[in-house]
Amino acid sequence: MGRPLPDILRIEWPATAPEPPPLTEEALDRGVAVLRRGGLLAIPTETVYGLAADALDEEAVAGIFRAKGRPASNPLIVHVADEAMALSLAANWPAAAAAIAARLWPGPVTVIVPRSSRVPDIVTAGGSTVALRCPAHPLTRRLIAKAGTPLAAPSANRSEALSPTTAHHVLESLGNRIDLILDGGPCLRGIESTVIDCTVVPPRILRPGPVSHADLEEAVGGPVAWPAATPSAVTAPARSPGQQVRHYAPKTPLETPADPAGRVEELIAAGTRVGWLTTRTDDSVVRGLATSRDLVIVPMPADPEAFAARLYATLHALDQRGLDRIVVDPPPDDEAWRAVKDRLVRAAS
Ligand code: AMP
Ligand code: MG
Repeated sequence: MGRPLPDILRIEWPATAPEPPPLTEEALDRGVAVLRRGGLLAIPTETVYGLAADALDEEAVAGIFRAKGRPASNPLIVHVADEAMALSLAANWPAAAAAIAARLWPGPVTVIVPRSSRVPDIVTAGGSTVALRCPAHPLTRRLIAKAGTPLAAPSANRSEALSPTTAHHVLESLGNRIDLILDGGPCLRGIESTVIDCTVVPPRILRPGPVSHADLEEAVGGPVAWPAATPSAVTAPARSPGQQVRHYAPKTPLETPADPAGRVEELIAAGTRVGWLTTRTDDSVVRGLATSRDLVIVPMPADPEAFAARLYATLHALDQRGLDRIVVDPPPDDEAWRAVKDRLVRAAS
């Protein structure tokens, strides 16, 4: 494509300032202008960067699918400034959605609800439901409010690839396919939102994420069903595209072996260049292997939220190093690690 690279405009809102600085307001206005003319812009959120278009403009939304190389059968999440905007896109507002919006929005949880006729078919992949989320990033909410329209925004990467957690990742993945990047700094949560289907009783998690099962049960004041046990057991890809088995994958083949130290040793002995994400940096085996020139050890936090926040940025960085293999310690069998485990299973497929 002969198009130029997009401008990257830094946006910020210092905690002490009552209003964003003038340059940030100007950047948001540029973003609004791109949306009004049916263009595409990358936006920061607390989860990952989104590739946004006016959700009510079919042509613009078609541009998202083209830029990402995304199959038309994969519906998009629509981002709203507040619950009122969400209501304007829903045919009805299930009690679970109302409870989640009241208690967990703005935040990293997406509700699936019956869609209103205002939502174009292309957004929902022809389905009768729509995915809605109110992001926690205050400048992205301000952008949506300024634009006065909901934004369809999947992750700002080529289809199936790793999600971007910095503006630079977006530039690398989508470059001249998009019109503008708003750079709000690194994403705080670093993995995609929890998705919960509120059209069924009890509501069911479709994709684990930063908002936990316990958070959801507390918010709705009742039981919440778990997602299907393993990605391979999922049979309805059109309804829940994030459940495709291969997704969220780095370019370098990735695995999570039961005995990572043994596996790394074996790989190095076979002349393989390995990147190893491990939380066990005090381990003498890890220290023993650390002298190998074929091994890049990346110490990872033992806390699941901190691990998630750094995971994609680490995988992006390792992808740049031309390694043959990425090994990740298998996460603990613990509910707190559910979202990370879900992403790693898909990345390893
Ligand atoms: P991404 O492309 O990374 O933003 O992921 C989009 C996510 O939206 C998928 O993981 C789906 O689970 C979810 N999604 C969007 N619309 C729907 C819908 N109508 N029904 C179920 N899931 C949806
Ligand atoms: Mg995605």
